Amino acid sequence: MADQATDEASLDTQASPEPSTGAMPEAEERERDPDELDPEEPELDDPELEEPELDPEVAARRAAALAHVRKFGDPVLRTRARPVDRFDDALREEIMRMGQLMNDALGVGLAATQVGVLNRVFVYRVQPDAVTAALVNPELEWVGDDEEIMEEGCLSLPDVHVDVERPIHVRVRASNEYGEPIMIEASGLEARVIQHEIDHLNGVLILERISRQQRKEAMRALREAQPAA
Ligand code: ZN
Repeated sequence: MADQATDEASLDTQASPEPSTGAMPEAEERERDPDELDPEEPELDDPELEEPELDPEVAARRAAALAHVRKFGDPVLRTRARPVDRFDDALREEIMRMGQLMNDALGVGLAATQVGVLNRVFVYRVQPDAVTAALVNPELEWVGDDEEIMEEGCLSLPDVHVDVERPIHVRVRASNEYGEPIMIEASGLEARVIQHEIDHLNGVLILERISRQQRKEAMRALREAQPAA
């Protein structure tokens, strides 16, 4: 799963650090297996929930999209992306392409580094019916003290699902694809996706956010993962 999720792409400009109900997508969510966050942990003893059957067409599209996503071991994933200083059509095309890949991959977020582009850009969508948001040059301006643990996956780490502790509330400043300043106050899943993607832009993977034991298990899952189509 990957940066998956779906959410308020609506760059919510309200500044309420109140937990925005977190919006945990339910059934929908389960079909989305994307890059990351699995807000609802499938019961471990119910294998059916772990690997939901996808419609063959959806599965094929997902596999095709994932083939464009850099995987663990690719040095670009450990590289810090550079600030964007040109807000041109090329940037907007790149963002559109990233949004498409994220959707096809059933992810909730996708950072430029994951497609081999070292620009400080990511897209995300935590709610299935929301508009995809693009954040350029994002800066975590404020992070709340409260933290919570949730399961995350990552499009770049096939078959890895780990519990990651992160702050629940964040405030981010960024630019949109036209260079206009935006500010987002996010909580819950949205805040988590934002932090996960900013980590990518800094060359940080969820493997660095977990315990040694979890990392061992994750590495085993990576070794056993099927090579992405
Ligand atoms: Zn990721």
